[in-house]
Amino acid sequence: MAQKFDLIIVGRGVAAQVFLDYLGKRKKQLKILGLHAPKLAPPCSLFTTSIISQNGVTKNNSQLGDWLYDAHAEAAAFMRTRRPAGVTACRQYHLRFAKDGKSKTDLARRFLTAPKIHAIREINFSVPPDALAFSEEAYCLAAIDFLNWFDRENHLSFSPPLMWREDFVNEVFQDGVTTLSGARYFADKIVFATGAAKDYLFHAEMKPLAKRVPGSYLQIGWDLGDKSFILSCKGMNLVYRHTDQIILLGGTTQLDGVEAIDWCGLQDYLQKARELIPSLPAFDHWQSFSGIRQKGEKRLPYWGPCNVHGDRHYEISSLYKNGFSLAFLAGAELSRLI
Ligand SMILES: Cc1cc2nc3c(=O)[nH]c(=O)nc-3n(C[C@H](O)[C@H](O)[C@H](O)COP(=O)(O)OP(=O)(O)OC[C@H]3O[C@@H](n4cnc5c(N)ncnc54)[C@H](O)[C@@H]3O)c2cc1C
Repeated sequence: MAQKFDLIIVGRGVAAQVFLDYLGKRKKQLKILGLHAPKLAPPCSLFTTSIISQNGVTKNNSQLGDWLYDAHAEAAAFMRTRRPAGVTACRQYHLRFAKDGKSKTDLARRFLTAPKIHAIREINFSVPPDALAFSEEAYCLAAIDFLNWFDRENHLSFSPPLMWREDFVNEVFQDGVTTLSGARYFADKIVFATGAAKDYLFHAEMKPLAKRVPGSYLQIGWDLGDKSFILSCKGMNLVYRHTDQIILLGGTTQLDGVEAIDWCGLQDYLQKARELIPSLPAFDHWQSFSGIRQKGEKRLPYWGPCNVHGDRHYEISSLYKNGFSLAFLAGAELSRLI
């Protein structure tokens, strides 16, 4: 017999988990079914360099900038008050060389009031004379620990407890969904947090047009000291998590949409990183990973009602390169609509 729920959430990545956390603080008496499909639609949230940072963004320059700014503030407040597992507070160092193309002053403008950095003490690193460097507060995340923490919290937030099923949604109708296993589930409301996989299923349902943009990164277990840090330069982030002595280096941006490891881009990143930190291991020692982000028009994210059945269907989509901070703004705002 088909089962009826107050809410179905499709997706178990960062967007879904953070939304459920905010919803659980507002409405506890909800019967919720979570559907996810890690084998057919691997969550980008587990294939990412997963840092949370403000990148020098300030308010009142653009809609995207305002959202990124607010999302960072929301995420940082959450980290400070709730202290989820897998999160390490650290400094992010931004480095720009005069020869990078954009003038040195672009970076200086974004960090107007920040003091200039001359050395990075975590790695005994002196900023080269032809470079500018600034630093800001950031967080690096072990994504799997972070998402598992939400799983535990969200399970207990609702009554009856939130139930997850691994099943791929292949059809959507006004008051429910059907899945590849042949099940049919009904609900008063459905929230889609399906990441880049949404395009295959719900063309008519979803709000703005979006592109799939794969990205790759390198990972290695390596000791760079007892302080986590992020070194950002020429579009690349080198993330060092001292808690598990992991270095992540990435992520590339495959605008042609080719869903294969971006070997050339990664080799290029590592070469640049080794110019800065010569002790980093050579390319053949690293493991590579790839995830697929979803990029909205003009890079804009979306959360709110779907195009079709907007009184019952909602989505969080196109979080693109800032899923780990935008999820907090999306979760806070969408939970108020449901
Ligand atoms: C290389 C790389 C580096 C990145 N670095 C950062 C970074 O440093 N900081 C940052 O903030 N962001 C970063 N991002 C972006 C970030 O990872 C994503 O924005 C974020 O993970 C998207 O989360 P999501 O929950 O929207 O989607 P996902 O994590 O992709 O989750 C989608 C969920 O929906 C489920 N699903 C999809 N379709 C179906 C279906 N039909 N039926 C059932 N279930 C379904 C999937 O199984 C999954 O559980 C990076 C991305 C990449 C690729």
